[in-house]
Amino acid sequence: MTASKILLLVLDGISDRPCRELGGLTPLQAAEIPCLDRIAAEGVCGIMDTIAPGIRPGSDTSHLSLLGYDPRQCYTGRGPLEALGCGIRMEPGMIGFRGNFATIGEDGRVRDRRAGRIQNTAELTAAIQRGVDLSRLGVTFHFCPGAGHRAALALSGSGLGPNVTSNDPKKEGLPPLEFRPTTDRPEDMKTAEACTEFVRQAARILESHPVNRQRRARGEPPANLLLLRGAGVMGHFEPFEARYGISGSVIAAATLVVGIGRAVGLEHIPVEGATGSTKTNLNGKIAAAVRELERRRFVLLNIKGADEASHDGKALEKKGFIERIDRSLIPLLDLEETLLIVCGDHSTPCSIREHSADPVPVVIHGEGVRTDRVDRFDEVTCAYGGLGRIRGLSLMPIALDLINMAQKYGA
Ligand code: ZN
Ligand code: ZN
Repeated sequence: MTASKILLLVLDGISDRPCRELGGLTPLQAAEIPCLDRIAAEGVCGIMDTIAPGIRPGSDTSHLSLLGYDPRQCYTGRGPLEALGCGIRMEPGMIGFRGNFATIGEDGRVRDRRAGRIQNTAELTAAIQRGVDLSRLGVTFHFCPGAGHRAALALSGSGLGPNVTSNDPKKEGLPPLEFRPTTDRPEDMKTAEACTEFVRQAARILESHPVNRQRRARGEPPANLLLLRGAGVMGHFEPFEARYGISGSVIAAATLVVGIGRAVGLEHIPVEGATGSTKTNLNGKIAAAVRELERRRFVLLNIKGADEASHDGKALEKKGFIERIDRSLIPLLDLEETLLIVCGDHSTPCSIREHSADPVPVVIHGEGVRTDRVDRFDEVTCAYGGLGRIRGLSLMPIALDLINMAQKYGA
């Protein structure tokens, strides 16, 4: 018997470097993780450069790579993927941005880049979608709320380019920047003009909106400015099913990962209580993945919380969350006909609070894999495994071969 389905479980930012708080161990090494260790013991292990050795991956480029899409060929910036993740239908050629609601003071300086971490901007977003008019420029747009203070914008129209700067000054106390084209192509100039106009009109709507009047009355910072960044043109992605002959779903709280899944044609399955933080509904996500495997042959499941803890430099919290993840994985231990792959998308060492190029551990578990001698899931032990050191782009071909779906090369 060989497996016929693939569950790709990506533990975002799971791997690390030695942490002082953990006596020189990584959070994975320090954690008690009987489930992951059993998966490692029964599977074939290795370490993986999700892009290439020495390349520090973003979550977007690494996930593309893990899905077998070379980011060097298809990655055009974070904006269009965020827009997809927020639910905007992105057609090739549309320009996507991610953005957030912010607070600008009467002196024209940014007071709060997250508008007091405002929650639920649906009303504000809808007012902007109704009220802003870019028809003078021949441009139409979609503006959608994201999680919390976040939002996404997509512009469409002829002659729009993706090469524009952001208006985000990145620091409070400074005035917002001007959108500028980074080339002298008229397309990029037009996009910069459309952004300027969009933000100007949106600011007028936001200033007098009842939601902001109430916020001011309560002493909360009004959401009276939009900051846009991550401009990119929506590219072409060969659909996953056409490429591999199997269809799939994506389960993730992070809009960026949802967007990547949608870009390649995976169906997004929302899960109640999935937050992308260490407080997320882990059991709900695992249960949803198990359910999806009954009707799909591929599921991408992303668990984000460990990355968040790492960006905050909290090694102990990361270790604790890894242990929580481990307990939630019990239902995956006896999945039938399924190749279970567990890996990171990049390392996020707590010591640097950022992504690093250190390779991530990877294990493939299921019928037919050649079990090696590794019986512990961590950055160091997995390096002794049968997969050796692979690249992210090799993962899908290896998995497809193990479910007998790989094309033969040659006669
Ligand atoms: Zn990530
Ligand atoms: Zn991260």
